[in-house]
Amino acid sequence: MIKIEHLVKNYGSNCAVDDISFEVESGEIVGFLGPNGAGKSTTMNILTGYLSSTSGKASVAGIDILRDPIGAKKQIGYLPEQPPLYLDMTVEEYLSFNFNLKRCRLDRAQHIEEVCETVKIKDVYHKVIRTLSKGYRQRVGIAQALIGKPKVIIFDEPTVGLDPKQIIEIRNLIRSLGKDHTVILSTHILQEVQAVCDRIIIINKGKIVANERTENISNMVENNRRFNVKIAGPQKDILAMLKGMSGIAYAEALAERDGDAYTYMIESEYGVDIRKKLFYQLAERNWPLVGMEALGMNLEDIFITVVDKSEEYKAVGTNVRNRIKRRPRGQEKSALEREVGASLYEDAQRQRSESSLSAASEDDDE
Ligand code: ADP
Repeated sequence: MIKIEHLVKNYGSNCAVDDISFEVESGEIVGFLGPNGAGKSTTMNILTGYLSSTSGKASVAGIDILRDPIGAKKQIGYLPEQPPLYLDMTVEEYLSFNFNLKRCRLDRAQHIEEVCETVKIKDVYHKVIRTLSKGYRQRVGIAQALIGKPKVIIFDEPTVGLDPKQIIEIRNLIRSLGKDHTVILSTHILQEVQAVCDRIIIINKGKIVANERTENISNMVENNRRFNVKIAGPQKDILAMLKGMSGIAYAEALAERDGDAYTYMIESEYGVDIRKKLFYQLAERNWPLVGMEALGMNLEDIFITVVDKSEEYKAVGTNVRNRIKRRPRGQEKSALEREVGASLYEDAQRQRSESSLSAASEDDDE
């Protein structure tokens, strides 16, 4: 449905998109992930005909975006990062305006009603857009993208600035749109693509560094298990037991004490769920397990694992899924990994704090 071949975009001497190629099949929801400045918007803007490329090809439903931009655009609904809303219009006026703009030949009233039903904005249909909450405005932006029944929908950072409840609602909406459309979701939030997408393409500095089924990424998350465990008993003996236990790849004692219980950070081996075994072994020795907290992988860990994996793919050119292991502790990350991982992590942190600020301050009319 979407085909990008050797796409390059230079801004002067800055190469924003550096020879990327990928395809999206009909009915797929694909996440386009990368840190800020990676080249996501540039790629989306070329795909949607807003920008020309320096070289390479992009086509939608077999129509070349350069040769027949109007034909290709008819196949695409686009929600840019800043939804192009006219705040002084009512929702009704705005959608009708978009209907005209797209020279839509469907039955106007029926089509707009269907779209409003899909994105659940019927209750604000007669309201002026300026008076709507961010969540509703985003829905109106999505409605605009759906006008004309495009086969492909492209979302650029659709949940930025929304509060946690709105984020979940918009993600569910995108997921449901995937039943009838091919969807590309461009974002810098890994959890977002994990929640919504069938496949994840990761771009960094204009190059694709990973192109994976989402479950492979999820397996990495599931299979990399770290816990803080609180155990009552002699610290030295317990640590020695943890370090010697099969299935545990790493154990360390943390500087936390609660009566006669100490906290340890453990990491299980790839693919091992250590929890029950640990419980029984401690019980056998009469060392009560008084707390267990799953730490999970953070964004940086996941990203690095993906980069590791894509590098292994490139190196050996075979399916290496089962051989991917976490990097041994203490082994240095490359400069690229540090930079990209840190940048992704910072973005996610900022996004979280923005979300909680807007949740606290916004008087939501939803
Ligand atoms: P992302 O969407 O992943 O944050 P962008 O596609 O916006 O990344 O940007 C990719 C690179 O291209 C960045 O280095 C950015 O500074 C540069 N860039 C983007 N738009 C322009 C522009 N209009 N002029 C010059 N450089 C640009």
